[in-house]
Amino acid sequence: MQVDLHCHSTASDGALTPDALVALAAERGADLLAITDHDTAAGCRALPARLPVAFLPGIELSCRWRDRTLHVLGLGIDPEAAILRAAEAHQRALRFERAERIAARLAARGVPAPLEGALAQANGAAPGRVHFARHLVACGFAADEAQAFRRHLGDGRDCAVPVAWPALETAVAWIRAAGGEAVLAHPARSRLAGETLRQLAADFAASGGSGLEVVCGAQPPAVTRRLAALCRATGLAASCGSDFHHPAQHWLPFGRTGLPADLKPIWERRQATWA
Ligand code: AMP
Ligand code: MN
Ligand code: MN
Ligand code: MN
Repeated sequence: MQVDLHCHSTASDGALTPDALVALAAERGADLLAITDHDTAAGCRALPARLPVAFLPGIELSCRWRDRTLHVLGLGIDPEAAILRAAEAHQRALRFERAERIAARLAARGVPAPLEGALAQANGAAPGRVHFARHLVACGFAADEAQAFRRHLGDGRDCAVPVAWPALETAVAWIRAAGGEAVLAHPARSRLAGETLRQLAADFAASGGSGLEVVCGAQPPAVTRRLAALCRATGLAASCGSDFHHPAQHWLPFGRTGLPADLKPIWERRQATWA
């Protein structure tokens, strides 16, 4: 099975429209795809009913756990569920409120029209840090997006303002109420390890989370081994995805990720909805 249960479209900070993303996944030979935009399922709602690849509607919710920002994937959600719509509206409001605070900091550094610029880059999507990064590149304040994050917008930099994202258990509850499976995204990326990571996995499972993203993008094999071991220890199911945002990310296995053979694939719980 070639599976990709984590990628982004123009509905959040991806470069491809949902249609183009689905077409590319089919071209790459994907057997199963989920589009998981940041805090919105609008991209999934925009797709036609018939697709060239088996598809699970998804979302990547921003949330917090012990003062950290984490991401939880919702897979197989009902994009029309009222609770999901309410959750999206909540997150969207937080993103607009944060955008004003980021813009104020960038304006103080001499960046021209940062809010207008980021909203133009977002083109109707709720503004994220990537849209500010693109604006910084467009107006010559950064050589590329990576530099914009390194200097200004990355975690810990002064224009990465904190957000009161909902608690982890709230994000999981929204996903469950919308009929989806909650999967902890890229658990190793927030520099979590050892006992803290085990506590997070335990809290996540106790909140109703059902899976860990064991494979995310082009991660080192040692990380996969560590997360696979955590999966076995907790009894959680396993997920995999590329976290693809842009065709220039040629190193990412878009549409073609897989899991260690002994793990329980999260999609097996969902076979009826996409087979
Ligand atoms: P946000 O959800 O608006 O806070 O933005 C998070 C997104 O910013 C991630 O999903 C990535 O797409 C992007 N991002 C975060 N950190 C970096 C970084 N250091 N370099 C490039 N992109 C980043
Ligand atoms: Mn992103
Ligand atoms: Mn993420
Ligand atoms: Mn992502």
